[in-house]
Amino acid sequence: MIKRRISKAIKIGGVTVGGGAPIVVQSMTKTDTRDVKATVRQIKELEECGCEVIRVAVPDAEAAEALALIKRKISIPLIADIHFDYRLALSALKAGVDGLRLNPGNIGDPARVKAVALAAKERGVPIRIGVNAGSLPATADKKLSIAGRMVAAALEQIKLLESLDFDLIKVSLKAFDVPTTIEAYKLIAGKMPYPLHIGITEAGLPRTGVIRSAVGIGTLLYLGIGDTIRVSLTAHPREEVIAAYEILKSLDLRQRGPVLVSCPTCGRAEVDIVKLAQRVEKELLKMNKPVKVAVMGCVVNGPGEAKDADVGIACGKGKAVLFKKGQKVGVVAEADIFTALMREVNKL
Ligand code: SF4
Repeated sequence: MIKRRISKAIKIGGVTVGGGAPIVVQSMTKTDTRDVKATVRQIKELEECGCEVIRVAVPDAEAAEALALIKRKISIPLIADIHFDYRLALSALKAGVDGLRLNPGNIGDPARVKAVALAAKERGVPIRIGVNAGSLPATADKKLSIAGRMVAAALEQIKLLESLDFDLIKVSLKAFDVPTTIEAYKLIAGKMPYPLHIGITEAGLPRTGVIRSAVGIGTLLYLGIGDTIRVSLTAHPREEVIAAYEILKSLDLRQRGPVLVSCPTCGRAEVDIVKLAQRVEKELLKMNKPVKVAVMGCVVNGPGEAKDADVGIACGKGKAVLFKKGQKVGVVAEADIFTALMREVNKL
């Protein structure tokens, strides 16, 4: 059992982050925020695959104006990602966003930070302090490690918000380097009470990005650190949400949708397992049911794994044995394997 770090609970719209609440899956749109139609379409797509909180970039006043329209058309909480210009943060708050991601430090003038903190507090809107290894303040203490500098920068920003009597805070400390990221989160975990948003930044294209993210986010989650996650991939954000759930499912922290167990196949298999597993995976991706499905190549490990699943198939020469909830329910011809397996899954 993973023992999770105790953090203060905050609310982003109707979603609780921290305080022992289920780890929240979030993503960020990749559309031009000013294009309301395209942005709403992408958010709806993400909602469908389980995204629970969405962030959009707000680079200018036009994007800030679009927020109210976007907010009206979606049902998951909306976070505005803002840099430098405090007026954009104030407009976003007026538009009704549920969260802000900004660094008080890069807003500059304390009076401006105060104006944002007051407006956010009035509306009960949390602020995520997002420290990134690539943009550490020039004043950072060079004697500290990069992780140490990230933590110092975050603590300074926290102090600034706390001095304004603002405590609806969430913190992230992201780097591309996995050990640096893990180190930074481990360092800050015991130094402040706020919930942590975790992720590996700029992780890359899906093939490598999912691995980097799984190693970094997975290690932190296993250590009990992290209240909300975002997998950052150079891909459609749907891939980020799918990867996030796979990480959470691997650690038994959340369950969503089916789990596919498939053997790696070897010289003993007499059916094309790769093709069969790919076909089954494609079909399962359309479902939300938390079912465990096994596709196994032969009788060595096949029946054992297939029996352990809700529905499973253990293939042999020209045919396969079908299992349901541990019971053998039939033998099907090779040509009927996929149909028979999916029929049983659909019946569950
Ligand atoms: S289940 Fe059979 S075919 Fe699949 S990897 Fe194991 S031994 Fe090979």
